[in-house]
Amino acid sequence: MLRKLILAALAGLVAVCAARAQSYPTRPITMVVPFAAGGPTDTVARILGERMGRSLGQTIVIENTTGAAGSIAVGRVARAAPDGYMLSIGHWSTHVINGAIYPLNYDLLKDLDPVALLPANPQLIVTKKDVPATNLKELVAWVQANQDKISGGTAGAGSASHVGGVYFQNFTKTKFTFVPYRGSGPAMLDLVAGTIDIMCDQSTNSLPQVRANAVKAFAVTAPKRLASAPDIPTVDEAGLPGFYISVWHGLWVPHGTPREIVAKLTAAAQDALADPAVQKRLGELGQEIPPREMQTPEGLGAFQKAEIEKWWPIIKAAGIKAE
Ligand code: ASP
Repeated sequence: MLRKLILAALAGLVAVCAARAQSYPTRPITMVVPFAAGGPTDTVARILGERMGRSLGQTIVIENTTGAAGSIAVGRVARAAPDGYMLSIGHWSTHVINGAIYPLNYDLLKDLDPVALLPANPQLIVTKKDVPATNLKELVAWVQANQDKISGGTAGAGSASHVGGVYFQNFTKTKFTFVPYRGSGPAMLDLVAGTIDIMCDQSTNSLPQVRANAVKAFAVTAPKRLASAPDIPTVDEAGLPGFYISVWHGLWVPHGTPREIVAKLTAAAQDALADPAVQKRLGELGQEIPPREMQTPEGLGAFQKAEIEKWWPIIKAAGIKAE
């Protein structure tokens, strides 16, 4: 008798969950951006969120939860209800690097389920406008000569811009002071104002300022030039061969989110990435769209694991720590 009752209750629960997954979404969805508004992750989230919302028939509301290089925001989603109404957008540093340097109270792989791999952008080595150097070699010489006076902007310890900055120091055998911000959006404002000197910053954040002639770009951290900024040389061409950083984005939900809901979110992300208007906007910002088979839970899950295996030893060996 008891067994029958339990089975009936379970069947009821399954039916309720299935009905919920079928009618999903019935209210606005929150996408948590782990850095300040106006920065690169925020920009990608707003472009994709708006288009995904149209496919899903509900608004995607962007919320910026900043601090500790995005690890607070990701924790917020990892502990949220697995119902598809709170999404974690993030990237190489929030969903890979942070696990190597922060004592996280969640597991990046076990507490979040992947939805889709999203576009990637390289970094640009950029400085305030009145740095006298005219090419990367001159910039390195200028940094070497002035390192005790130079400050570099970052989006917090372990953020992509911080890892890029540490790489730059290691490659050029220099040390300058890092100034942490709540995202590279606010850091860029200070670079434009000239209160900080240098940044390794995602092309999405830097390119609009480079085009406005408000900052100087010296190289792109990729083996090939950006189609939308062909004048900027690669690090190989400019004199720091092999200094490659690719900041790929992804979308996750709390672990245990019903498969039907994840499938709807994946389809919405794929719709967005296939939209020519979205492709054009992302392309102008130096973002490269991954192949469609990677825009899936399996694609993102496998790639994230491979990146953890590749980068954790490198980050630990480079001595990058949460400060
Ligand atoms: N993605 C960060 C931001 O949106 C910056 C970073 O990781 O460096 O501000």
